[in-house]
Amino acid sequence: MEQLRKKKGFICDMDGVLYHGNQLLPGVDKFVNWLASEKKNYLFLTNSSQYTPKELQQKLARMGLDVDESHFYTSALATAFFLDNQAPGCSAYVVGEHGIMNALYDKGITYNDVNPDYVVVGESSAYNLEQITKAIRLVNNGAKLIGTNPDLTAPAESGIVPACRALIAPIELSTGKNAYFVGKPNPLMMRTGLRMLGVHSENAVMVGDRMDTDIIAGIESGLDTVLVLSGVSTRETCKQYPYRPRFILNGVGEIPE
Ligand SMILES: [Mg+2]
Repeated sequence: MEQLRKKKGFICDMDGVLYHGNQLLPGVDKFVNWLASEKKNYLFLTNSSQYTPKELQQKLARMGLDVDESHFYTSALATAFFLDNQAPGCSAYVVGEHGIMNALYDKGITYNDVNPDYVVVGESSAYNLEQITKAIRLVNNGAKLIGTNPDLTAPAESGIVPACRALIAPIELSTGKNAYFVGKPNPLMMRTGLRMLGVHSENAVMVGDRMDTDIIAGIESGLDTVLVLSGVSTRETCKQYPYRPRFILNGVGEIPE
């Protein structure tokens, strides 16, 4: 644990690590204060591409946590970094919300529904048949299909909602083309996060509540890993995987202790 506390960079998943729904988890305020007082470089990460860093900042503020906008990192930002790196000045047809729209716009990637380089799909509550039909035709005409993250579902107040992978499936099935997914567990998301933090992987930690996304992404990117039991994984389910986290904690509140 002492080695863990000495690390410079912390990348922390949010849902199941910092909060559940609109409920802050125990010990999170202590952990966030510790990150700040120890002058750690840290990012709070979500695979959802729906919200902007500003909106995530406001969500945490409503739960009583004061965290600067610059500490939030989403699959929307990772997707925008990736496309800008692959094809600067490219254009995209986007099925998604302001999170992905703003991230692409900030990188100078223009919206194009005629002959885009990419069709980008993220979470959207306004998803409709017209958009999907357009996306299918554009992909058939040569646009590359990109998913912001490979999550099938996401938790919502009233139950689960379909997430990116489920929303993009009709486009893949109709075109016979497979999407490329940028978010966790793609190590690309971790590497971009490390670059944002300015920390080398061996001096960084990935903290998450899921073995199949957070922990595998951390391991494959060479970060130290911490599984917290405050979300999806339990001590029992984590034994089913061929890899293991370096530390298993009940919650992030145990890190500063
Ligand atoms: Mg999580």
